[in-house]
Amino acid sequence: MKLYNTLSRQVEEFAPIKPPRVGIYICGPTVYDFAHLGHSRTYINSDVLVRALKWLDWEPYVVMNITDVGHLTSQADTGEDKLEKQAKKEAKPILEIAKFYTEDFFKMREQLNILMPDKITPATQYIPEMIELVKILEQKGLTYKTSDGVYFNTSKFKDYGQLARLDLAGMKEGWRVDKNPEKKHPADFALWKFADPEEHRQLEWDSPWGKHSFPGWHIECSAMSLKYLGPTLDIHTGGVDHIAIHHTNEIAQSEAATGKPFVKYWFHSNFLDVSGEKMSKSLGNYIRTDDLIKKGYDPLALRYLFLTGHYRTKMNFTYAALDAAVEAYTKLKSMVADWQGKRQRTQLSPEKLDKLQGLSLQFKTAVEADLNLPQALAAVWQMAKSNIPEQDKWELINDWDLVLGLGLGQISSPKSQIPNNIKILINQRENLRKNKQWAEADKLRRQIVDKGYKIEDKHA
Ligand SMILES: [Zn+2]
Repeated sequence: MKLYNTLSRQVEEFAPIKPPRVGIYICGPTVYDFAHLGHSRTYINSDVLVRALKWLDWEPYVVMNITDVGHLTSQADTGEDKLEKQAKKEAKPILEIAKFYTEDFFKMREQLNILMPDKITPATQYIPEMIELVKILEQKGLTYKTSDGVYFNTSKFKDYGQLARLDLAGMKEGWRVDKNPEKKHPADFALWKFADPEEHRQLEWDSPWGKHSFPGWHIECSAMSLKYLGPTLDIHTGGVDHIAIHHTNEIAQSEAATGKPFVKYWFHSNFLDVSGEKMSKSLGNYIRTDDLIKKGYDPLALRYLFLTGHYRTKMNFTYAALDAAVEAYTKLKSMVADWQGKRQRTQLSPEKLDKLQGLSLQFKTAVEADLNLPQALAAVWQMAKSNIPEQDKWELINDWDLVLGLGLGQISSPKSQIPNNIKILINQRENLRKNKQWAEADKLRRQIVDKGYKIEDKHA
């Protein structure tokens, strides 16, 4: 497979460090508000990546963080903690706020058929790991203390800003004195923050740097990915808006601490506009997946819409585009239902066999070409309109939907990973075993295995 790597700005041949394993870190949400369609698109794009890797027989292990502390309203390490601010606004305990929006986030993912990560890491549960990492950076002489926190000294890290191609000299020249005049360079960033005594924070910890303190935003991703994926990850995903600051800072603190490259491939998903404008609360165009469901839209039609745009291309959401996606998706679904009903093995003529192999190759080539899902969908439609037997169409769509996640096949939904016909066989077999009809039970076991499923009996 070929993947675009933001670090090199090139499409590269994908080769993980320890194949077939692929260590993936997904920058998760800051859980102070509802996720909007832009987030939905970003996480669908990461989901397609994970699904494609699995489909191509790699073994991804996915870690995703939940930011529940330390993300400030200003990118310049000033302003309020987003969660503290929301907790004040809603007059609720902060962990209740975090729980509510975390649950809403996972509900959105389920609606859109996004697979669960293998490991979910809320920042507040990894405070000791973060402190350890800051201590290492401090011991290496890469930090300095100001009145409001411990900062990373970017001038001491040789390749700082490479991911975003930052112009550091230009930044310094254009630097206006901001609210943080103690910083040595505008790019320096907070690793650890001291609570403002006036602020009355709900969440603060004792640390080697002070009693009432809390982590900076970026350090959590470095600490948690190091813990579960080691010093070098195969793939790190996120939105393009994180390249210049968040991901740049993750690289600096991780590589400065471990002395090893942090990430082999950076995978960034592009923006989603709404009717040509940036989505924002003030413009009143802030749309959630839930809003569309309330209007009667199938969330998987939204997923279909997002798959019609390449992940590196900016997309524009309009209701006209969504309606067109609904039409296409509904048509495809009814065709699939038709194939399912007409499943009868027919002999393939050599021409049809050629066609079938050509279509298979077309789909796979599109997926392997930096996840070209618009082309993969084109292959789906060519297949649907071709004259190959329905049985083969049904089998192809079942296989391809493992990548698409459009709920078209029987095994694409995480909710029902085992198709009903297999479940029935399993039940029948269990009954036979209870009645000690071993030979019959074994016959069913072979049928299930032949359909591609493994049975592991627990021995009491
Ligand atoms: Zn992150």
